[in-house]
Amino acid sequence: MAENYHTDLYIDGAWHPAMAGGRIDILDPATEEVVATAAQAERADVEAAIAAAQQAFQTWRKVPAWDRSKVLRKAAMLLEERADRIARLLTLECGKPLGQARAEVISAVELIDWYADEARRIFGQTLPGRGADNRFMTIYEPVGVVGAFTAWNFPVVLQARKIAPALATGCTIVTRPAEEGTSSVAELVKCFIDAGAPKGTVNLVTGTPEVISEAIMDSDVVRKVTFTGSIPVGQHLMRRAADTVKRMSMELGGHAPVIIHEDVDPVTAALASAAGKSRNNGQVCVSPTRFYVHKKHEQAFTDAFAGALAGMKIGHGLEAGTEIGPLVNRKRLAFVEEMVEQTKAEGARVVTGGKRPADMNQGYFFEPTVFSDVRDDMRVMNDEPFGPIAPVTTFESFDEVIGRANSLSYGLAGYVFTGNQKLAQATAEALRTGIVGVNTFAAATAEMPFGGVNHSGFGRENGSQGLYDYLDAKFVNIAYG
Ligand code: NAD
Repeated sequence: MAENYHTDLYIDGAWHPAMAGGRIDILDPATEEVVATAAQAERADVEAAIAAAQQAFQTWRKVPAWDRSKVLRKAAMLLEERADRIARLLTLECGKPLGQARAEVISAVELIDWYADEARRIFGQTLPGRGADNRFMTIYEPVGVVGAFTAWNFPVVLQARKIAPALATGCTIVTRPAEEGTSSVAELVKCFIDAGAPKGTVNLVTGTPEVISEAIMDSDVVRKVTFTGSIPVGQHLMRRAADTVKRMSMELGGHAPVIIHEDVDPVTAALASAAGKSRNNGQVCVSPTRFYVHKKHEQAFTDAFAGALAGMKIGHGLEAGTEIGPLVNRKRLAFVEEMVEQTKAEGARVVTGGKRPADMNQGYFFEPTVFSDVRDDMRVMNDEPFGPIAPVTTFESFDEVIGRANSLSYGLAGYVFTGNQKLAQATAEALRTGIVGVNTFAAATAEMPFGGVNHSGFGRENGSQGLYDYLDAKFVNIAYG
């Protein structure tokens, strides 16, 4: 299945190998074979990319919004045309089943298309001033050169969420995707190039994260940094940003509670939960990760949930019928194995899974794992699992479950299942998260804001809010006469 895709750096409108010539290998997580390589940027490469972005900003910022919008619209069209090929690359590098990879590319198409519209809707305000000949006005201006870093779980969508609003607002960007998914991100960047994004507006740098991020964080030219990844790396970047007072957007980790109220059919909720949990093998920042089931439904929910997950087909993401692919890399597999062992040692019971599949000795596969007899003080209920681990616990009252759901410093997504509208509203409003799904695990869509509260970060992507993290508001006070 080797694809042998080779990504270079895209700087100032051209593809270049890294100046020092370094490359990194990218493995298929299902076979552990090299399927691609990417250039390994050194500091000088990143500095060249920043200089190109600074140069391009002087003209791109003045391009009318209607013309910027056309570039985005065309990029969305090209991405849609190329979706099958890009989805295949995504599966090869990240392991997700092909259908999920295609769905990811299509959601990137939708959000680029959405930003093409929003580019033309950057509304300022005009207010009467304090005197008869006085007007107050706000004008929104692009922040400037943006530095972006993204995780590997949705390489195309996460990059589209940064490149599209940057271009829509008149900013330019230097962006680093995770190693896993680099080839599909290179294809995404080609869509923007082929759509007419001028040279220097989008610059792609790949390689060691610390090397790239130090150059970006040190630069006073880069006026904003947007990061999708873990809380510790986000905190490090926030500390580094203080030196040059950069604006920041942080899309960080989550540990999403799921509250299954007494009035719901436990089997229906369990089947929905199995589908939600299995998506990208649980490697999703908004993945459901703490299942609070009403005491009355404990047995029925747990049996149906574990049964549905145990019945899913594990395999290579390109094989027909695969529902669960491998974890993305050896590090993630080791993390999941360790968390499962610790949860067992702390006294939880494995209902299904708990180990690597017996007949698969290559690739980073792990069985979806459901735990019962879970206590709130166990590590699995406090640290983000970011994998196929689902602890199930019970509750008896509304106040109790809300208190427990809100007890962590995470605040990205939360879910509630109930047919009672008043209870749905009360739960949605009580959860301290940036996103709530009521009877659904669909937590992200182009037209609505995506982001967290507390340690899950700040700033919003998508929706009409998504542009404003890339814009500075200027107050203009006009005294006529
Ligand atoms: P991570 O923070 O270790 O890595 C994320 C990305 O940042 C990777 O590409 C990594 O190479 C890069 N990185 C590492 N050190 C860096 C540095 N010093 N400067 C710049 N980039 C650096 O996280 P991970 O464990 O690989 O990814 C999973 C985490 O990402 C989870 O916590 C998950 O919840 C979070 N995530 C959040 C969202 C969201 O939208 N809120 C989306 C996806 C993933």
